[in-house]
Amino acid sequence: MGVTKSRIKVKKTENSRLHEVDALNINFGKHYSDHMLIAYYENGQWNPPEIMPFHNLYFSPATTFLHYGQAIFEGVKAYKDPQGNPLIFRPYDNLKRMNRSAVRMAMPEVPEEIFIEGMRHLIELDRDWIPTSEDTSLYIRPFMLAIDEFIGVRPAEKFMFIIITSPAGPYYNKPVSIYVQDKYVRAFPGGIGFTKAAGNYGMSMYPTQEIKKMGYDQILWTDGFEHKYVQEIGTMNVFFVIGDTVVTPDASNDLILEGVTRDSVITLLREKGVKVEIRPLSIDEIEAAHKAGQLKEAFGTGTAASIAPIYALTYHDDKMMLPPIEKWEIANWLKKELADIRYGHKEDVHGWNLKV
Ligand SMILES: *Cc1c(COP(=O)(O)O)cnc(C)c1O
Repeated sequence: MGVTKSRIKVKKTENSRLHEVDALNINFGKHYSDHMLIAYYENGQWNPPEIMPFHNLYFSPATTFLHYGQAIFEGVKAYKDPQGNPLIFRPYDNLKRMNRSAVRMAMPEVPEEIFIEGMRHLIELDRDWIPTSEDTSLYIRPFMLAIDEFIGVRPAEKFMFIIITSPAGPYYNKPVSIYVQDKYVRAFPGGIGFTKAAGNYGMSMYPTQEIKKMGYDQILWTDGFEHKYVQEIGTMNVFFVIGDTVVTPDASNDLILEGVTRDSVITLLREKGVKVEIRPLSIDEIEAAHKAGQLKEAFGTGTAASIAPIYALTYHDDKMMLPPIEKWEIANWLKKELADIRYGHKEDVHGWNLKV
């Protein structure tokens, strides 16, 4: 029944665009690899995926996803180990999350044979697109769209699952300045905050634009009732080091998107013997910790940035400055540890790297 690698139909490109990429100066999202994967869902089932040259898509203007946002996506990265073998970081976790998003958005779950085997095959074919200089990777973007040609409102019956990939340069970890959001809301109980739905990103653009004009980099989202409990920064999970404890908001009530990086960070810290608390965390507690000199580190986590240090946190007119980042023990250790595992410099004791 399953779609094995050998059953995936492949049409190779005759004109590789790889030479267009300046390996030493990769701009994220500027180039897409030579091939893409497409699978169609219709009549209640998935058709076998096909890999073909990267190309533009054409849709009827009445196509569902263009109007009603039945669209979800994922973000994964592939790296090369010292021997040059491609490694995909924790794609099974992305598959699980994609399917949680799919259920909530009334979309079909993607089978492992398409998501994982399709991705492996695509990465194998485009392996030369995985950059090898320090801190680089191949960003993998799986996504699903509702493609009924019908402007009426109802869950669609036809869907498209696609994977494209893009070389990602070294992510310049410029520390970020954060504004604590007390006007707009990202997620609320029973909502879609836990999904990687396109709409979660669409709604964040305006509030982000507003705070950027005020000179901040990202929003710290808070709850919609009291604007008191913190959720995430921008599109990253967030961690605070208070005293010798690492605290991150819990994912109950559908409020937090459970990042693969978040889970990796929690796992690595606990193994190292660091105390990690996953619980509701209020801005009042963060302010009090800062006043008492106990707010040691704060950082965001996500596939794109890995670990993004926060140097300042502004709540109303209280601008909380964090200690100099060079002194941080936890975030800096995590960043290196994660990189060592992803690039195969360290034994992968968790089985996180999928060999292609
Ligand atoms: C993708 C995403 C993250 C990070 O998840 P990773 O799996 O670590 O990349 C966090 N928050 C939001 C809202 C996201 O969309």
